[in-house]
Amino acid sequence: MYADRINSLPPYLFAAIDKSKAEAIKKGVDVINLSIGDPDLPTPRHIVDAMKKALDNPAHHRYPSYEGMLSFRTAVAKWYKKTMNVDLSPENEVLTLIGSKEGIAHIPLAFLNPGDVSLVPDPAYPVYNIGSILADGKPYKMPLLAENDFLPDLDAIPATIAKKAKLMFINYPNNPTSATASLKFFEDVVDFANENDIIVIHDNAYSEMTFDGYKAPSFLNVSGAKDVGIEVHSLSKTYNMTGWRLGFAVGNRDILAGLGKVKTNVDSGAFEAVQEAGIAALSGPQDCVREMNRIYKERRDALLVGLKELGLTVREPKATFYVWAHVNGSSSEFAKLLLEKAGIVATPGAGFGEYGEGYVRFALTQTVERINEAVERMHKLDI
Ligand SMILES: *Cc1c(COP(=O)(O)O)cnc(C)c1O
Repeated sequence: MYADRINSLPPYLFAAIDKSKAEAIKKGVDVINLSIGDPDLPTPRHIVDAMKKALDNPAHHRYPSYEGMLSFRTAVAKWYKKTMNVDLSPENEVLTLIGSKEGIAHIPLAFLNPGDVSLVPDPAYPVYNIGSILADGKPYKMPLLAENDFLPDLDAIPATIAKKAKLMFINYPNNPTSATASLKFFEDVVDFANENDIIVIHDNAYSEMTFDGYKAPSFLNVSGAKDVGIEVHSLSKTYNMTGWRLGFAVGNRDILAGLGKVKTNVDSGAFEAVQEAGIAALSGPQDCVREMNRIYKERRDALLVGLKELGLTVREPKATFYVWAHVNGSSSEFAKLLLEKAGIVATPGAGFGEYGEGYVRFALTQTVERINEAVERMHKLDI
């Protein structure tokens, strides 16, 4: 019944843990869910208010423009200048997305012919790999290893693969490893892309979720980056807006035009009232972002105490709301144990790709009280 491309999708590795979680809840276990990368905090009030006001304007009830409202794209360009010091033309270097996942999933359709290679990190946000498969491309996994600080080793990519590759996906600050990248790494990527004629897609969803004075760079801060790539961004994590579905892609205008062409034929743009809310988010006061980071940092510090007590090897994340912990043995077994013995749900690293095996991802999406409770339970665990 299903097309080959659907049948060829990797199995949903979180299904087993979802099932055990549901069973535990049914048994009355007080489950602490540290598995989902979805902010538990509400969208800031001034953004919600902007949406309410926009809803009353009938002009917003009609089809939006495909590329997004010019006022939203202008707000994006100004925000990029202010936060990243990158100059963008709102006219043709900014494209509105219905959440960044939508853009990421559609990019391969614009650039891959059947069998073309797409370089995707492993472990990773699954959409780079799946999007490439749905476009009949051939994903080539770039392992993200601790010994390389979870950056892909570009020299390890065989020359024949590099020559055949059309796309490369990267994502720093990184989900799930919480690793960050330096400008030097982005420079190497630009050189690699130029040598091999590759389009680079940098997913910068976590650029604003940073701690301890760390500032995450934009890929577009590197000279020549705009010649080879785009950056995909989202309001989901920065402004607690995962449910609103609003993101954007910026950078090379020809690449954006390719993505735009797919989108024009698939969707009809983001609801204008949501874009108005997006303008309020990007142009309004940013103390909400600082406050969220303060909260995440407190949670991070609380969780790190517990994980160290368990004897796990963890790097203190400078960004993202994830903690990537090295465990002994199978990540699924470890996650199962954590759930069965302590009522804690964490995501087995293998769910993010084969090189995620041996790790478990914890998301800081519970209050510090609940995280402390999780730490208490871990303390009592005998692993
Ligand atoms: C959460 C996340 C996104 C955001 O997705 P949206 O579709 O914008 O909600 C994108 N990339 C990564 C790596 C993420 O973790």
